[in-house]
Order: sequence, then structure tokens, then C-alpha cells
Amino acid sequence: MTTPVLDHWIAGGPDAGTSTRTGPVYDPALGVVAKEVRLGSAADVDKAVATAKEAFASWGRTSIAKRQQVLFGFRELLNQRKDELAAILTSEHGKVLGDAAGEVARGLEVVEFACGMPHLSKGAYSLGVSTDVDVYSIKEPLGVVGIISPFNFPAMVPMWFFPIAIATGNAVVLKPSEKDPSVANWMAALLKEAGLPDGVFNVVHGDKEAVDALLTHDDVAAISFVGSTPIAKYVYETATTHGKRVQALGGAKNHMLVLPDADLDLVADSAVNAGFGSAGERCMAISVVVAVDPVGDELIEKVRDRMGKLVIGDGRRGCDMGPLITREHRDKVAGYLDVAAEDGASVVVDGRGIEVDGEPDGFWLGPSLVDKVPTTSTVYTDEIFGPVLSVVRVSSYAEGVELINSGPYGNGTAIFTNDGGAARRFMLDAEVGMVGVNVPIPVPVAYHSFGGWKASIFGDAKAYGPQGVEFFTREKAVTSRWLDPSHGGINLGFPQND
Ligand code: NAD
Repeated sequence: MTTPVLDHWIAGGPDAGTSTRTGPVYDPALGVVAKEVRLGSAADVDKAVATAKEAFASWGRTSIAKRQQVLFGFRELLNQRKDELAAILTSEHGKVLGDAAGEVARGLEVVEFACGMPHLSKGAYSLGVSTDVDVYSIKEPLGVVGIISPFNFPAMVPMWFFPIAIATGNAVVLKPSEKDPSVANWMAALLKEAGLPDGVFNVVHGDKEAVDALLTHDDVAAISFVGSTPIAKYVYETATTHGKRVQALGGAKNHMLVLPDADLDLVADSAVNAGFGSAGERCMAISVVVAVDPVGDELIEKVRDRMGKLVIGDGRRGCDMGPLITREHRDKVAGYLDVAAEDGASVVVDGRGIEVDGEPDGFWLGPSLVDKVPTTSTVYTDEIFGPVLSVVRVSSYAEGVELINSGPYGNGTAIFTNDGGAARRFMLDAEVGMVGVNVPIPVPVAYHSFGGWKASIFGDAKAYGPQGVEFFTREKAVTSRWLDPSHGGINLGFPQND
């Protein structure tokens, strides 16, 4: 049997493009190559951008009402068929079906937010700023926008951006992760079914070659990127040098601060859920528990107990945690357990060699727990992006906050306490973009905006919410005078209002 090849999606249908390069797409629970994906060339990006540019000419002038109808149609279809999307996602990413469904639901939230674009994109009008003169400001679309997304949320992260981009009148070229690319084509087909004109939403698959072509293309007005910090920085620097508006969200190392008065059962549940959900491959995963003395020992026991009950296996079979995305990534993550031991940490639970409800060749690594991690160890400093939860012990709230604020990232953090005053202080003290109070994964709802601080974001605009609307529009201010025939004649002075 020949391996299927996933095409790009350009001008409303599959397009094989010109490149002969392809990359493997795995079924990570089976450990086999399920399909190949085309790795697009600069010429393929050129074609998609030209198609989008042509489509933008009419889509950008299509009434808000008609654009809104397409978004509502997409929302209905996606809601009806979300399980189908979740199943595709699980087969390529590996996260369990319930988690995949949750990802789709959070993407759907942004679609619903974008359905309100007539209200969100309203301008402002000032009547009579001078005699017979009015000023109004309007929000116009940018043109062709590029979206470059990571493997860990192949449905949700594109949906952080494209519903808002499309609703505001832009045309899109999406370059999804080459590791789990199929959901992008599935969403493209659904947008078409919802009535989106061909060419408004295009998908070019690929790697650095396709990304670079998007970042430097004259006809691309803006780039929305989500991925690791080094690539986010590169994307930001390259695309801004080429005159584009850029929002580039990067990596993370999220800490959970546990105060001695916290409900330790809630903390243990939350640490396990947020540490091992999606096998730790979440930018908002909790990867470090900061235990303020004396809670460490009791908390470790509670966490270890819960970890022992997790079922690891094929996400299609009702397990708690699936495989990692590739064999290489699994091996890299597992390697941190050796580093932990070498650096003097205590490996409390070692997830290597676990019994798995699935194929032996799947990319498995069981949940792992490392206590007393030195903050100089790469186990602490690196974004591991896998099911390895670190515990660092501190003697006070102040020491914990200092640790959290001293790191390079600032994506998410959480405090667990029953002291409202301490929680409020933490909310102000944390130099982090998203803060949870007794909530381990504080991903804001769609009508707020998502984004970290420091090395977790490059650019001025966060994703979705009001900042998403700002990002995908540019304001035009119009000053108009109607029409008193007694205009003032020649006056070379700077215009003043009277
Ligand atoms: P990645 O940086 O390897 O890839 C992201 C995208 O960039 C992909 O589309 C990939 O094809 C492309 N890319 C990779 N290398 C490139 C290069 N050298 N030049 C140009 N483009 C390149 O990230 P990933 O492994 O797919 O995703 C995991 C990372 O994403 C983690 O660091 C995670 O924290 C981060 N992430 C962040 C957020 C957030 O909101 N801050 C959300 C999800 C994921």
C-alpha cells in the first residue's frame, strides 16, 4: 500500500504544489508513519499568497453581515462535527480524545467571539469637531495575513487567529506544523462548506522554507506565530525587518506556587492535571511546582499517589495520557531524567519503561516526578515540553515569587492558597502574562486576550480577544466637511479647529 500524501489547500481545494519534498506524519500511538505531508516551496507560498491577494480584493469589501454569516455557518458545522476533528487530531498528535475535544471547544470559543465582529469592529465618530467638520475612525483589514502554528494545538492555535482575521476581512495563508497537518485541511474544507469564498483561506504545508517565504513576502501584511522561543524571536525579527506587523508567541516554563495554607488535595489534582495533560506538551502546562515549606513532603506523596493511577496509552481508547509527538522528542524528554539524577535531584517517579495500553512502538513516556531540582540544572531551566514535573522547595512566599520572576519566560503561573490577600499580592507581584488563583492553567476566555510576557512573546499584540481585533485591523481617521459653500479660501497655516 502506498503512503497517502497530504496536499496544500489553495484556492478552495487540494493543491500538490511544485516541491518534491515531503515529511513523515506519524501515528504516535502506533509509532508508524501514517502519511506524508508536502513541504512547500517558495513558489507554493507565492501561489497561495497571490490567490489570497486576489480573494482579498472582494472579501475585504464584502459586507460585515455576509462575513458574519460565514462565521456563524462555520460555527454550526464545527459544533456538529467537532468529534470528527478531535479524532483526526488524536490520530496525529496523540493527545487523548477528551483532551482533543477540549482543544476544539476552546477554538470554537474564538469562532463564537468572531461572530460578534460587527460590534467589535465598530469605529468612532465625532460630530462637529470644527465648524461643519466631522471626524470618524474606521477599522480596515490588513490584506493577506500569514499564520504559522505549532504541533501541540493543531486546531486551537490556528483558531486563535483565523476566525478574527477572516471576520475582519483579511485573507489567510496558514502554515501549520508539519507534524500534525491534517486538521488544517479539514478546517479549510469546512470553511468552504460554510460559504467562505475560495482563496480567502489557504494552507501551505512545510518547514523553514515555506515559513521564510511567508516572512519575507512583499504581499503578506502580518504574521501571527506560535511556537518555541528561538523560532518566535527569529520570526519576529525577520518579518518586522520585512515591514510586517508581527505577533510571535514563544515557549514557557510555568510555575505553580503552593503556600502552606493551600488545600493540598486540590493542589495535587491540579498539578497532575496541568503537568501531565496532553503529556505535558502544552505551553500552559505546569512544569515546576514551587512548594513553600513545610508542604513539600505531603504534597509529593499526594501527587505520587495520583500519578500511579493514570492510564497511559492510545488516546482513542479512553486513557488519561497519550504518547509524545515523535520518537526523537520522547527520547529528548526522557534524557532529562538522567540529567536530573546527575545534577543531584531526586527522581521520585521515573516514567521510562512503563506498561502501556497500546503498541510497543508508540512514543511512550510515563509521567515522571523529580523533587529537589537545583535551579541551576537544565531540568529546571529548559522548557522540557513533556511529562516531567519538577518540584523546587522554597522557604517563603518571597523566595517563591523571586524564583518565578527571575526566569526568562513569563507565560503562565498559578498560586494555590486560601489566603485572599496573598493571592491578590501574587496577582500583582508576578511578572507573568497570565495568572491563575487556584486555577492551574489560566488560559483566558476568548473575549480576553492570550499571551505571556518576556521571552514568551515578541511583538505588541496578544492573541485573540480585543487585541486580536486590533492586530488584524488598521485604523483610518477621516476628517470631512459637508458642505457649507462659504469655504475659507487660501490659508497655508496648519489646520486649526474653530
Ligand atoms: P516550533 O518552534 O518547533 O515550530 C513552530 C512552527 O515554526 C512550526 O510551524 C514549524 O514548522 C516552524 N518552524 C520550526 N523551525 C523553524 C525554523 N528554523 N525556521 C522557521 N520556521 C520554523 O514549535 P513546536 O515544537 O511545533 O511547538 C512547541 C513550542 O510551541 C513550545 O515551545 C511551546 O511552549 C510553544 N507554544 C507556545 C504557545 C504560546 O501561546 N505561547 C502555545 C503553543 C505552543
